[in-house]
Amino acid sequence: MAADLIDGKKLAADLRAEIAAGVAKLKAEKGVTPGLAVILVGDNPASVSYVTAKEKACAEAGMYSREIRLPAETPEADLLALIGELNADPAIHGILVQLPLPKGVSEKRVIDAIAAEKDVDGFTPVNVGKMLIGEECFLPCTPHGIVKLVQVTGMDLKGKHAVVIGRSNIVGKPVAVLLSRKDVNATVTMCHTGTKDLAAFTKTADVVVVAAGRPNTLTGDMLKPGAVVIDVGVNRVPDASKPKGYRLCGDADFASCSEVASAITPVPGGVGPMTITMLLWNTLEAACRAR
Ligand code: NAD
Repeated sequence: MAADLIDGKKLAADLRAEIAAGVAKLKAEKGVTPGLAVILVGDNPASVSYVTAKEKACAEAGMYSREIRLPAETPEADLLALIGELNADPAIHGILVQLPLPKGVSEKRVIDAIAAEKDVDGFTPVNVGKMLIGEECFLPCTPHGIVKLVQVTGMDLKGKHAVVIGRSNIVGKPVAVLLSRKDVNATVTMCHTGTKDLAAFTKTADVVVVAAGRPNTLTGDMLKPGAVVIDVGVNRVPDASKPKGYRLCGDADFASCSEVASAITPVPGGVGPMTITMLLWNTLEAACRAR
């Protein structure tokens, strides 16, 4: 079987067109332009490129974005004070702090400082708690995008078995929560480094979401024929033939998985574009709610 490619770029483009229309409507009807503040501390190259991509996406959607770049040695107190100012700034509807933060700065304290109504990443304990109990909240962007990618395959997840590999707070745990909520209704197994026989679980899965951060965590022989595979991993592997000396790959072995799966996301071009799209989605929602 040659799996269908789940085109994250196309789904993201469709949703971004919808978001841009929503932004235009909000501007025309209420005179409000959704505003996103993006804080980058330090100069981690991957973070710089993520932040640049987020700003470009904001501009394309007609949103206002304010990039705040701070040196790596910025004291935590200054960062917290800045977040306090942005919490009170009516032109800013969403605040994003690009992770990871430099050593010595507490990610927990920084994230906790973001007002829940501007937490468009969906990372604050208030939003995580609301997601867990099914209240209206900002859903975390990558997990929300993952659910949409599964749904675009046309698979009805009701009663299906979904295996999530990974239990991080930003991907694995929230994906497991979203897939098991009543609106999706899958039966979810969460696997992690403590799981004894990973393949025994994945072989019974209709959907596998792999977010382990390790290439080849999932191979074709671990899949049930026809399964849907969502590959969240972004790994740099050395490749002398590439100008940068590396190439990107996911956590699934694409060649063998695509022989067995019915549909699979590519890396890049799968989950990545959806993450930024759901950030725009949340920012528009925050601006709509603010009025
Ligand atoms: P993490 O390191 O915080 O968590 C990885 C999880 O995988 C852990 O819970 C661990 O228990 C589990 N794990 C690792 N190896 C395993 C194995 N062999 N078997 C079973 N479980 C295993 O990583 P994260 O932040 O959740 O990110 C995971 C991957 O997704 C990374 O490659 C990251 O770059 C990528 N990511 C991509 C996006 C995107 O937008 N495309 C967003 C977030 C994360």
